[in-house]
Amino acid sequence: MFRVTRAEVRLGKIRDNMKQIRCLFPDTVKLMAVVKADGYGHGDAEAARMAEQGGADALAVAYLNEALRLRAQGITLPILILTPIEPQEVPLAEEHELMLTVTSGEWFREMRRYRNASAADKLKVHVKADTGLGRIGLRSKEEWDELAPWLHADDIVVDGFFTHFATASNEDTTFLTRQRDRFAEMIEWVEHSGVAVNHYHCAGSAAALRFPELAMDMVRIGAAMFGFYPERLVPSVKLEPALSLRSRLMQVKQLRKGEYIGYDNSYRADGDEWIGTVPIGYADGWSQGLQGTQMLVNGKRATVVGKICMDQLMLRLPGPCEEGAEVTIIGSQGDERITCAELARHIGTVPQEISASIAPRVSKVYKE
Ligand SMILES: *Cc1c(COP(=O)(O)O)cnc(C)c1O
Repeated sequence: MFRVTRAEVRLGKIRDNMKQIRCLFPDTVKLMAVVKADGYGHGDAEAARMAEQGGADALAVAYLNEALRLRAQGITLPILILTPIEPQEVPLAEEHELMLTVTSGEWFREMRRYRNASAADKLKVHVKADTGLGRIGLRSKEEWDELAPWLHADDIVVDGFFTHFATASNEDTTFLTRQRDRFAEMIEWVEHSGVAVNHYHCAGSAAALRFPELAMDMVRIGAAMFGFYPERLVPSVKLEPALSLRSRLMQVKQLRKGEYIGYDNSYRADGDEWIGTVPIGYADGWSQGLQGTQMLVNGKRATVVGKICMDQLMLRLPGPCEEGAEVTIIGSQGDERITCAELARHIGTVPQEISASIAPRVSKVYKE
């Protein structure tokens, strides 16, 4: 059952973006495609397949259930879960050949109660270090010294040691440099302890595109695969969005000056105005914060007026329009174009929050 409000994903764009990114790095640099949050709202398995065709060597997701969903859809690439999972879930993760993020010796102590492995069953882990984002990861030498002995075990493979930047999209690189230097210091701890690590990695999309010299052994590409990147700071590539979102006007009416639109009389007509109702609302991921943004009808911009409802919103139309006329919410129509970046600016966020917020209630259509 398809709803008139539908997201269209152009799979070829995801593949082409990935191919371009692949070409920026030597073959010795592994490409990990980050497809968490249902592929940033583009479809997890679909994004994973396009990433693989574009040259990805591995995938990453945030949570165990996301990795299991990919496996259930037949995805066979190596998958890293970027946040530590519950120690009791480790046997399930191993059954599906998933790589795990670890940050502490304490986690290993717990995990050993649930995992009864012989040296033949190797668990692949990536150790996460916090160099300044302040999210997850070990921060001190003491924490590393506590974790290191667990990593020497015969049944553990340290496939990676990694960190994540806090300011990779900012023009000012002072803090990024500080994090890079801290990471170099931590790598020395690792090397002195004799723990063998297959891949050191630190760069997500923005860092990898802006500073290819930070690629180390692997880059982790999420946003850029979907065409979201700080374009101004990376003139060397031209990546394109893959997602558009379209609907239709479900009702059109003319208001008289002083008449109201929306809950709490949130909009009042200034004069005689044409208003169209579009079947998308905050339960579709179209937050009330997007009041005041624009959509395209008949090739022209129309502004969202009044509070956005759960299932619908209202547009102030440039003039009378046919009921059933196509509404472009994200994407191009005529010479106009609405991007996730434009919408994101309105609510003070990043483009991927717009795409990742689109609810499963919205139909998805895949095109080449
Ligand atoms: C989400 C995430 C990424 C991907 O970041 P993008 O900026 O979307 O490329 C990389 N690494 C980690 C640890 C992440 O959580």
